[in-house]
Amino acid sequence: MADVHFTNVRVFDGGGETPFTGDVLVSGNRIARVARADRGQRPPPVAGATVIDGAGAFLMPGMVEAHTHFSWNDQPSLDSIQRMPPEEHILWCAQVARQYLDMGWTSCVGAATAKPRLDVVIRNAINDGTIVGPRYIAASQEITVPGGLGDTTAPHLPQHEFAFGAIVSGAEEMRRCVRMFAKYGVDQLKINLSGESITGMPSEMSQFTDEEIATCVDEAKRWGKRVAAHARSTWSIKACVRHGIQVIYHASFTDTESLDLLEAAKFDHFVAPGLAWLINTCHHASQWGLTPEVTRRMGYHRELEAAVESMKAMRRRGIRILPGGDYGFAWTPHGTNAKDLETFVRVLGMSPMEALLSATAWGGPMMGHGKEIGYIREGCFADLLLVDGDPLTDITLLQHRERILAVMKDGVFHRAPPLRSPGGTTRYGAPASVTRWAA
Ligand SMILES: [Zn+2]
Repeated sequence: MADVHFTNVRVFDGGGETPFTGDVLVSGNRIARVARADRGQRPPPVAGATVIDGAGAFLMPGMVEAHTHFSWNDQPSLDSIQRMPPEEHILWCAQVARQYLDMGWTSCVGAATAKPRLDVVIRNAINDGTIVGPRYIAASQEITVPGGLGDTTAPHLPQHEFAFGAIVSGAEEMRRCVRMFAKYGVDQLKINLSGESITGMPSEMSQFTDEEIATCVDEAKRWGKRVAAHARSTWSIKACVRHGIQVIYHASFTDTESLDLLEAAKFDHFVAPGLAWLINTCHHASQWGLTPEVTRRMGYHRELEAAVESMKAMRRRGIRILPGGDYGFAWTPHGTNAKDLETFVRVLGMSPMEALLSATAWGGPMMGHGKEIGYIREGCFADLLLVDGDPLTDITLLQHRERILAVMKDGVFHRAPPLRSPGGTTRYGAPASVTRWAA
């Protein structure tokens, strides 16, 4: 693995300061040196290093997506996602994994898988180099109760046969279920603590008992696994804090008590609201029969309003809000994930800086890597994006593949920057003589 020397780049280092012009040296899979031009620093030339002349492009840490479902296949229902046969399904997941990396998401958190082992197999294949993809936290299926979100079984067919989720009832079935997923090798258990209006169970309903939740958390802990919850209702948000469930997805309906509880434990939790799902379900799903009138009747417009207010309140209280919009449905297709950052700015009132930090600095601990991910600092993993333009001026840039000039994960280019052509038409990239890749 040759060293890579980025020169003449504007460095957004994940620390929240104004980007500076400088050089970044990558050695192996780590960032070896960061030099600031305004301080007269410059890393010494390294023999054999590939030099990338950034020509003023924006160098930032790779982004972290906090709520992904690689196995959701851009279909309009849970049932149609689950009905894809396993052979096609694993190929689908592999293609989606590549797509996320391609769009600058160098780390992704699996928020549930559609079949028991899809996420685990994909994570392993990424890690051993069989397929290309981001760093990945592999999830279980959604654990639910009979009749809960994820129970897609029909009354007249054998139960569990085609269920979208893993259906349990009672503490002992929960314990068995967690053990089964631990055996399969997941990193994170997903539990559906509230309903989801589109499936017939309202978002404000909560179906698990405290005993079942406690068993899930206890058994997960024994196996060294993390728990993440689908938690839209107020009761379910409080249950997450009460039971120490670190990852809270959605958190739409809050009250003062739930916000107080969350704030008091804010460094123990991550919140990923999945606003893209709510916004697109309310406003951009008519062609699948979900007109605004239909989704208003389902309660989604009220939920969207509540979720926006909840997120604004959480932001004021310093609770970590991360991007991750439940992409992978027909009206939230994979690859459009960076729309979340625009939503954070336009709808929640975050500054572009805050939105970028939510996708970088806060992603490291979410991935279980503390400050080794999400920063451009000496010693951090070399997960880097070279961007044409300044996302702090225009946060929508990151939605466009062509504006992300290069993607590096773990010190290796997934996409190298385009070469500077002899005619000077392409601005980025080093002279051909010092690059290793072909034009
Ligand atoms: Zn989800």
